[in-house]
Amino acid sequence: MGALEQVDPEVAAMIRHEEQRQQTVLEMIPSENYASAAVIEAVGSVLTNKYAEGYPGARYYHGNEFVDDVEDIARKRATELFGVDHANVQPHSGTQANMAVYLGLIKPGDTVMGLKLDAGGHLTHGSPVSASGMLYNFVSYGVDRESHLVDYDEMHALAKEHRPKILVVGATAYPRLWDFKRAREIADEVGAILMADMAHIAGLVAGGAHPSPAGLAQVMTTSTHKTLRGPRGGMVLCDRDLRRQIDRGVFPGSQGGPMMHVIAGKAVMLKEAATAEFSQHAHQVVANAKALAASLMDTGMTLISGGTDNHLVLVDVRPMGLNGVQAADALEAAGIVVNSNPIPFDTLPPREGGGIRFGTPAITSRGLVEEDMKFVGQAMARVLAAPTDQGVLAAVKREVQEICAKHPAPGIPA
Ligand SMILES: *Cc1c(COP(=O)(O)O)cnc(C)c1O
Repeated sequence: MGALEQVDPEVAAMIRHEEQRQQTVLEMIPSENYASAAVIEAVGSVLTNKYAEGYPGARYYHGNEFVDDVEDIARKRATELFGVDHANVQPHSGTQANMAVYLGLIKPGDTVMGLKLDAGGHLTHGSPVSASGMLYNFVSYGVDRESHLVDYDEMHALAKEHRPKILVVGATAYPRLWDFKRAREIADEVGAILMADMAHIAGLVAGGAHPSPAGLAQVMTTSTHKTLRGPRGGMVLCDRDLRRQIDRGVFPGSQGGPMMHVIAGKAVMLKEAATAEFSQHAHQVVANAKALAASLMDTGMTLISGGTDNHLVLVDVRPMGLNGVQAADALEAAGIVVNSNPIPFDTLPPREGGGIRFGTPAITSRGLVEEDMKFVGQAMARVLAAPTDQGVLAAVKREVQEICAKHPAPGIPA
């Protein structure tokens, strides 16, 4: 960081502090991860200088011979990894990917169906504060009150009643597997396109640790920085016949020049995600989440849906006399970073949330395995049982720092 230190020591110091924070906490926000040093090097390259509006072979600027190669290899690796016809690797984020799909495939005012926010759906699945909810007529399905599983019967009934143009499946806070086959049957019955937003689970899908929507969903969207462990960004994957509409929805529909340095980082991530090591990692993420869920339930905690099938866990913290923010604040003070989250049929306002959401992707990237999950679960329980006891918080924090020191996070300079 020589140049940055010289030009801007203030920002250089802020980055060093953040490196140190990431290295010394248990990062358990399930949408976060550690990009590899190779991914970060690609993102920090001179490709940031290049304007490349358009697509390889059809650009609006000149001098694209090398960035065309970069985008081509990223697209090729994405289609091979996920077994799809076409990939658009330009979306700046998962949100941009979703908005580009809507823009490309339907008209403002058209009906779309997605999962309710408090059941784990994402803002871009029709929240009134998101452009998705302002521009399109979203109808929401939910989860069952007892099992907390997606209510496919409700999805079916609502689809027949409202006849959406797009049926969105996928979530930001759902600990169980999706039945993509059932969703496709429902979509087909009402003539809707099935869109699988796999932002959270894409790395598990790539590694074979979660069923893939490929071949069932005509469109798949994802963020690239969550379980995929790439640079911050998004992608759309789709069937051949939707290619033109999707590409136009991204550019010129909703974005200008692509971030070629980030696309290079996505290409590197896609190479890494195709390896046997990554597949093993993805399975370890799930094994760790299951072990963590078991450890938490042993301490008496209430888990939404009673456990997990994927990388994340949602805990109802109300029985402990807390709201989500109080619980997350206490855990952060002890070096365990999670986020407060609404839970199904929540009785607390979204600002507080009745739950906390956390997962194993990042801690698995730093090498923690099932045996470590007993410690993590018990540490969380100790904190949540005494959230204002400074002695307990300090003791847990010391133990967290010890385990972090034993398992350095990848991609962070020493
Ligand atoms: C994270 C997420 C997104 C949006 O991703 P950003 O990259 O933060 O814009 C979209 N959908 C789901 C289900 C997500 O979890």
